[in-house]
Amino acid sequence: MIILTHSFSLFEGFLEFSISIGKSVLGFPLWVMEISDKPGEEEAEPAFKFIGNVHGDEPVGRELLLLLANWLCNNYMKDPLATLIIDKVHLHILPSMNPDGFSLRRRGNANNIDLNRDFPDQFFPMNDDLGTRQPETKAIISWLREIRFTASASLHGGALVANYPWDGTENKQKNYYACPDDETFRFMASLYSRSHYNMSLSKEFRGGITNGAFWYPVYGGMQDWNYIHGSCFELTLEISDNKWPAANELPTLWEFNKMSMLNLVASLVKTGIHGRIFSSDCGGPLPASIAIKGINYSIKASQTFADYHRLLAPGERYEVIATMPGYKSKRTSITLGDETMTVDFVLDPENALKGSLLRHGCDCGSDNKSRRTFIEFLPGPYLEVSAILILILAFLCFVLKRRAIYNHLKQRQFVGPKRSVVV
Ligand SMILES: [Zn+2]
Repeated sequence: MIILTHSFSLFEGFLEFSISIGKSVLGFPLWVMEISDKPGEEEAEPAFKFIGNVHGDEPVGRELLLLLANWLCNNYMKDPLATLIIDKVHLHILPSMNPDGFSLRRRGNANNIDLNRDFPDQFFPMNDDLGTRQPETKAIISWLREIRFTASASLHGGALVANYPWDGTENKQKNYYACPDDETFRFMASLYSRSHYNMSLSKEFRGGITNGAFWYPVYGGMQDWNYIHGSCFELTLEISDNKWPAANELPTLWEFNKMSMLNLVASLVKTGIHGRIFSSDCGGPLPASIAIKGINYSIKASQTFADYHRLLAPGERYEVIATMPGYKSKRTSITLGDETMTVDFVLDPENALKGSLLRHGCDCGSDNKSRRTFIEFLPGPYLEVSAILILILAFLCFVLKRRAIYNHLKQRQFVGPKRSVVV
């Protein structure tokens, strides 16, 4: 459970607050800052997380994340990218996942466990007992149950490359092992490397990116777990060849990584498809699933606002499918360019025909059976009255349906989409 311990701000009292998502083995709080125009509130916006210092002896990430937080708060309403991120994304920053390892200047935590090998693994389920996880790992797992992250990155040191899933292979061989969203991950990793001062010029890694298993297989890693269990597209970023650079090199390292970090977070609202899903009969939000034909992976819209955020490589044609139990699925084909696209869905209930006359408000069919039964057993003298009632209800249904479509058009909250589609 996430406990709000205190809050503070760096800009006009509303940009940032901190929470502890758990404690390390030695009892240090795992502090997370949330940077947003409405921190701590749920909005129909994507969320991104940065995690630094997963390995205790890789401290550059924790320093750069503090510099990132300061830069964003100092540049709100001054820099367009800072303003876009703060207004349209909820950015969560955990500068140190492994404060004990940092104090001990070693890779593992206080129990000397490598935290990036401590997550349940898809191929080798020997470590699936959640009770045996390290407290730092458990904190991340519970955090992902609380917050719906669209994407994330963990920061490491000792190399210069943007690494993407899968991290492991089924046969433990060192091979390129593509996950269903390989193209999207290559796009995200390339966005980071190309925005970096020199990552894309790497002689070791073509374009400054690598598939995790192609470099070296990892089991129990955090990025695969995020994609499989958190619907979160996570990269593992190696941001400095030197794990312990001199302190006076940090400003340079920040400058080298600054645009990469900003562009990666901003990509959540500058690329991909976004939208909301509503019921046609009552206009209520539907936490439906969104899938892309040909990609064996789906994400869910949020319970509260029914917003979804699907990262996808640009320049492709996609068939987007919305499904929800009790509703008829809908699909549409889109061509995604370099700009973000809004694709909203209005789904019809499976039983729309027999229940439509009696459905009203936002009840969404919860009590239709009892109302139908009441009408069916009305005695003869009341039939005329009931016919008039049915006509009135039918008219109300028509008005509410129109209002539902109008409302969801009005409620779009995404910036600058070139095109919008309602399906
Ligand atoms: Zn590392």
